[in-house]
Amino acid sequence: MATRKLLLLHGDGIGPETMAEVEKFIAYMNEAHATGFETEEGLVGGAAYDAHGKSISEADMAKAMAADAVLFGAVGGPKWDGVPYEVRPEAGLLRLRKDMELFANLRPAICYPALASASSLRQDVVEGLDILIVRELTGGVYFGEPKEIIDLGNGQKRAIDTQVYDSYEIERIAGVAFELARTRSNRVTSMEKRNVMKSGVLWNEVVTQTHQDRYQDVELDHMLADAGGMQLVRWPKQFDVIVTDNLFGDMLSDVAAMLTGSLGMLPSASFGAPDEKTGSRKALYEPVHGSAPDIAGQGKANPIAMLASFAMCLRYSFQMVEAADHLEKAIANVLDRGVRTADIAPDGVAPVSTVEMGDTVLAEFRALMG
Ligand code: NAD
Repeated sequence: MATRKLLLLHGDGIGPETMAEVEKFIAYMNEAHATGFETEEGLVGGAAYDAHGKSISEADMAKAMAADAVLFGAVGGPKWDGVPYEVRPEAGLLRLRKDMELFANLRPAICYPALASASSLRQDVVEGLDILIVRELTGGVYFGEPKEIIDLGNGQKRAIDTQVYDSYEIERIAGVAFELARTRSNRVTSMEKRNVMKSGVLWNEVVTQTHQDRYQDVELDHMLADAGGMQLVRWPKQFDVIVTDNLFGDMLSDVAAMLTGSLGMLPSASFGAPDEKTGSRKALYEPVHGSAPDIAGQGKANPIAMLASFAMCLRYSFQMVEAADHLEKAIANVLDRGVRTADIAPDGVAPVSTVEMGDTVLAEFRALMG
């Protein structure tokens, strides 16, 4: 039996509480289905700072590099507001992304039918929504140089950020989007601003060429990123996979996220390039939400985003498609029955705790797994 190496980084705030629910699934799958998950643990964020004075230790970085997949809870909190910038909790996550070269960030936006009425958009606009935003994560304006604020000496300052993309960066993220589209509805929409940005012109050109060379079976269209934002709130179901750069992806994925209700529901995955020998990609799975210090330690956190991140891990890192389908179905069934944590409970519905939600989804998952 193959072993599957998972590194669990619980982090801070509600991170440990939501990760504890995933650990129950791992234990069950090992016991009942001999899945051979081998878990290691490490510290990240404020927890790592308290222990080592760094936001992630070299030893834990080495574990992350050796793992088949990393499951990440959340980092941060007011306790660490005053720590030096280089060792702030978020620096641990940025280090993981950088060293693991996680250039592709996937954020699905799925609207569970049971929660459609809770969206700020009309029910028919979001019900049954299932789209995937693929964001370039290691390039563009967040990393381009020069990046500085200059004192002009005349009482004025000038701020500079640089949007820069090389064609290989665009080609590899486009490849990820086309490949994922083939496992879904086979459609990709590429979003950039080719009308006003040179990087948009190159983006458009390289995505078109990549499609022409390797993915002609996938349907491709292009949309300006601002129009894309508008279409996302007008009729989001027109999309299947959206591929876009770091900055637009940051914004468009937050817009898409909010179509579906609470932050406590949203998973994400980040991938590196495939290994030349094994073909497997370095991968990190994490909920979109942060450490929620306002509810940490109270048993109120919704564990669904973390559980759905684990479902993505099963699907993409281990090709355990049936188990991933069952886990997603278990979440949908439990929501259909009206089980709610506080963040998604309507007035008059008594919320369940983090542990109760985890246990209820696990019971449903066990039934589906047979
Ligand atoms: P947040 O996502 O932690 O919380 C925003 C709001 O959503 C809060 O009211 C919170 O209670 C609620 N919420 C979030 N997740 C929830 C869940 N699973 N169940 C129920 N409710 C949930 O964002 P924030 O308050 O802006 O940031 C808090 C801390 O988290 C900060 O230190 C921030 O830097 C950090 N942060 C970390 C990450 C990460 O680890 N990837 C991401 C975002 C923010």
